Amino acid sequence: MSKHILLINPWIIDFKAYDLWMKPLGLLHISSILRKKGFSITLLDCLDRNHPSVVKEKKLDPQMTGKFVDEEIEKPLPYKQIPRKYKRYGIPIEAFKKELKKISAPDFILVTSVMTYWYQGVHLAISILKEKFPGVPLILGGIYPTLCPEFAKKTSGADIIFEGSNIQKLFKIFGQFEESDMESLFPDFSHYTKPDYVTLLTSKGCPYKCTYCASNKLQPTFRMLKAKKIIEGIKYMKHNYGVSHFAFYDDALLLNTHITSLLEEIIREDWRLNFHTPNGLHARFIDRTMAKLLKKSGFAELNLSLETTGSTIQVLTGNKVTALHIERAIENLYSAGFSGKQIRIYTIMGLPGQTFEEVEKTMNYVYTLGIENHLSVYSPVPGTEDFERIKKEYLYNLEDPLYHNGTYHYYRGKWFGFQERKDLLDRVHRLNSKIR
Ligand code: SF4
Repeated sequence: MSKHILLINPWIIDFKAYDLWMKPLGLLHISSILRKKGFSITLLDCLDRNHPSVVKEKKLDPQMTGKFVDEEIEKPLPYKQIPRKYKRYGIPIEAFKKELKKISAPDFILVTSVMTYWYQGVHLAISILKEKFPGVPLILGGIYPTLCPEFAKKTSGADIIFEGSNIQKLFKIFGQFEESDMESLFPDFSHYTKPDYVTLLTSKGCPYKCTYCASNKLQPTFRMLKAKKIIEGIKYMKHNYGVSHFAFYDDALLLNTHITSLLEEIIREDWRLNFHTPNGLHARFIDRTMAKLLKKSGFAELNLSLETTGSTIQVLTGNKVTALHIERAIENLYSAGFSGKQIRIYTIMGLPGQTFEEVEKTMNYVYTLGIENHLSVYSPVPGTEDFERIKKEYLYNLEDPLYHNGTYHYYRGKWFGFQERKDLLDRVHRLNSKIR
């Protein structure tokens, strides 16, 4: 009899969360490979907004993204003083338990995870799974145990902590087999009856080494996936599920040497689909040709990473982009037919050593370009240079991953704090509303 693997995408617990084309890509990829090998797979996705327990409350925006259903919960000790609501996002706990009742005991359970400071949702799922299926080996993988393995070993309740992204090692746990072409399979969306959108990757990792980003730690080598399989996957999801929105979750989409041929093939197919890039694009790679390809292939809107205009911080953090790259990219995008309303610039506040004035200056610069500014809040990420710097220079104890949450970080911020954070966010909203 084939082995049965239960895959779990747990809840998010945080001050805020939004479904921005969020699907458990790692699990869906693993599911594709295991199915091909004859395993029986069940996925339970706590963040599925089409789950019968929450679908009535679902509201979709035109991009097919939207809010998760949530329930306010008590704040843990480190967050007690933070004047914001703290919530569990996803299906109700009772709905999760009801789903488990329908499932026969699996041979293995694999729980994934994303942000380190979301671990409460992960641990909650593990405790329920352990109660329901005592004795079934439970593996915890994903970003959280890769970046905080010791904490996960001590506190999660999982039997095996799986660090990193080497899928071959994971499959040895399930029963040894070799698979040479594992990377190129399309994520297995058959677990969703009618997916609103599909998320996908054309590459894994990033060749840059920014001091605030853990991409290299999570995926040490930059790997590019085959364009042919991606095209086949898009075609399959369009024809069999009627999906028309596809989000590329690459860290470095434009650095994939196959990207030109992939976009040319999409244009040839003339599918009239909508493509999205939730992660910021590298502006220096948007020349005239690339801008035209992005326009013709159906990218509805583009996000460009700038982070800051402060040249010292730009250089010290990895030198991935300058204001000049941004200006050239925008010029090329305009000439390809994009409007300013279809472009957004990602900036950041709270990098170690970054001042309030520098964030303000960056904000004003983006405003003068007539482009919307998406100002994100820096969170310290374990395994990065900046994380170590914060521990050393500001004497922060970051052992409990709850302390990695950007909201907490500002609450005790030493270079600028909660009120400054609020002032900057209010300011960026005002500027954005003037150009919308
Ligand atoms: S370019 Fe982006 S993905 Fe790559 S290391 Fe820098 S922040 Fe991370």
